[in-house]
Amino acid sequence: MKKTLFILFLSLTIGRAQQNQDAPLNIIFLIGDGMGLSQISAGMYSNNNQTALEGFPVIGLSKTQAVKNLVTDSAASGTAMACGEKTFNGVIGISAKNKKLKSILEICEDNGYNSGLISTSSIVHATPASFYANVISRKKYEDIALEFIESEVDYFIGGGKNFFIKRKDNRNLIKEMNGIEVVKNLKAFQKSDAQKIGFLTYDEEPPSLNEGRQPPLDASLSAVLSKLDSRAEPFFLMVEGSQIDWGGHANDIDYITSEFREFDKAIALALDYAKNNSNTLVVVTADHETGGLAIIKGETETFEMEASFNTPGHSATMVPVFSFGKSSELFAGIYENTQIFHKMLEAIGLN
Ligand code: MG
Ligand code: ZN
Repeated sequence: MKKTLFILFLSLTIGRAQQNQDAPLNIIFLIGDGMGLSQISAGMYSNNNQTALEGFPVIGLSKTQAVKNLVTDSAASGTAMACGEKTFNGVIGISAKNKKLKSILEICEDNGYNSGLISTSSIVHATPASFYANVISRKKYEDIALEFIESEVDYFIGGGKNFFIKRKDNRNLIKEMNGIEVVKNLKAFQKSDAQKIGFLTYDEEPPSLNEGRQPPLDASLSAVLSKLDSRAEPFFLMVEGSQIDWGGHANDIDYITSEFREFDKAIALALDYAKNNSNTLVVVTADHETGGLAIIKGETETFEMEASFNTPGHSATMVPVFSFGKSSELFAGIYENTQIFHKMLEAIGLN
């Protein structure tokens, strides 16, 4: 009797695992803007020598250069990772040969996925915009907002409300937003039963974490993940730690490390989700390094450090790619940033 029960239990468990094996893949793609190896190191040391990235078994390196420029900006590298083609700096979702590109998010949507975008910049900033917009200049924020309301994104959290409501064309894009319930705070986001929910966190660019930015990135991620998880369909979710880059531009090590530690908590949450949901792939990378940062002095008790910067801009050094979960082995090695798009497509079986 006991044996029969055990075999029944075993076959049920195997049956479930089998089902999980065949279930479509969820992707959580986390981008630390400007997060090179020195930013990760500094952030890790400032966090008592620990980072959630230590839980990722597969590591690769991504070559970030744009067309013509070895030093990329977030538009060209965002496009490369989101759409799989290199382009010129400043350009979003359009190839160097002037072809409109489809992003991994849009391809997923075409294949029955739900999707989400979270950023600690405005939602029309270059990195998130690379997943839904096709514009010749990243600075055309009002045009990007127009493309955003036409996009299929189901859940979003980010700043930049004024690009939707204080516009040269006097349109109110929040009212025009196609079937998306736009809420005023994270609690309302969590409570909403709508199939599409957005939260515009700030009128303009959100402040830094040190200046009191809310909500915390891991809280935003948790809210969006629980919505995506409650749906029957698989999902694609992009999460950006946007301001690691701005700390680099400011050559401000405390700005960088505080933004990294917030991003690191979101990474930990994503990792945890993937550990409990085996049909999930987590990929963490950067679009480029910012500041030409080096840690040139420090001590091991307080982890206080002295930083040196080479530039107020970006640098051309390769950036690491960390992956965990189903198909994560695809991301080992050294490759162009465009391959991140192709590898994600391969992982979900759409290449
Ligand atoms: Mg960015
Ligand atoms: Zn930058």
